[in-house]
Amino acid sequence: MRDEELKVELLCRGMKVPEQAWSYYKRSAGFPIRFGDTLVSVPSLGKYDRYSFVEASPYSITRSDGKWLLLKDGEVIREVDVAEVPGFYEKLSSDGVEMRRIFQVCGWDCVLTGVVQSCAYQRRGTQCRFCGTIYNPAYEGRLDRKTPQQLAEAAEAAVEHGIKHAVITSGVMPTPDRGARLLLEAAKAIKERVDIPLEAELAPPQDLTYLELLLEHVDSVSINIETLDQRVREYACPDKSNIPYEEYFAAYELALEALGENQVNSWLIAGLGESDEAIIEGVEELAERGVFPFLVPLRPTKGTGYESTPPPSPERLSTLALQAAEVVKDFGLKPEKNKAGCMRCSACSPVRDFLKLV
Ligand code: SF4
Repeated sequence: MRDEELKVELLCRGMKVPEQAWSYYKRSAGFPIRFGDTLVSVPSLGKYDRYSFVEASPYSITRSDGKWLLLKDGEVIREVDVAEVPGFYEKLSSDGVEMRRIFQVCGWDCVLTGVVQSCAYQRRGTQCRFCGTIYNPAYEGRLDRKTPQQLAEAAEAAVEHGIKHAVITSGVMPTPDRGARLLLEAAKAIKERVDIPLEAELAPPQDLTYLELLLEHVDSVSINIETLDQRVREYACPDKSNIPYEEYFAAYELALEALGENQVNSWLIAGLGESDEAIIEGVEELAERGVFPFLVPLRPTKGTGYESTPPPSPERLSTLALQAAEVVKDFGLKPEKNKAGCMRCSACSPVRDFLKLV
């Protein structure tokens, strides 16, 4: 099996992780492994009972003679790398908070934080049906809110321990900035303290002034439209779908103007109930605007509205990723030029890997 295909298999089917590996596990959403130059954030089952679809997965990981081995149906299929737990996790901020509660490693050499972990839609009971954020505060005592000072100190410590880029995100706020103001404070504090490429992940602010200000302090942005099929979007995002597509497009234009090519992306989720054609139309719509279509498979999370929906099959995701890669190539987008965040890391999406095949 080619590396790209193995990545898709792992993204769609997940992997069982035994007790011995959990001390290496650094965040709750995905277990990062690497083989060759392929990085995968694998939905995993073990310490956290988060993804029940992984129970049926034939894949597991084990450690033997100091090596990490990936198994399928109990047979070793290849050796993989698993990153060490970073040293900054045990350090304390000046107000005494363990830094693992402030920033968590995401992918290989990236850290991620929810500046505010909760969301206005969640408080109204209208959160996006795929969103696993509700799980986050329960994991490893994560903080719901981080101060700019805590974030700056933890980012600095992370860089000292080899971290190369960072993502800051927030739940959507019920204000015209929709959360951008909090990200702005965080980005300013981090950048004043340490030179680290930074991505902000956010909903498009209703008042674009906040985005304009934020763009002065970040290197790239992820403004996630999730699906361009409005029927599916209304079901998947009962409240967020009220944000008109035009507001996304205006935010993309502004961000591309400020940050330049290859610094703007949007997550597209395969498996919400849309057709293949709708996905590819969405990919084209984004790529034509200069926005990288960060196509990911649905990760049905326990406790969410999609918990009993299976992820897309590996065959479906491979076909879509290949088509998406062709579109990306046609529009001249180059994810390897991205400075920070998900597009640079790409552990959750196969599109960048499939670009090698087109
Ligand atoms: S692609 Fe984004 S969310 Fe996924 S592991 Fe990398 S930085 Fe984290």
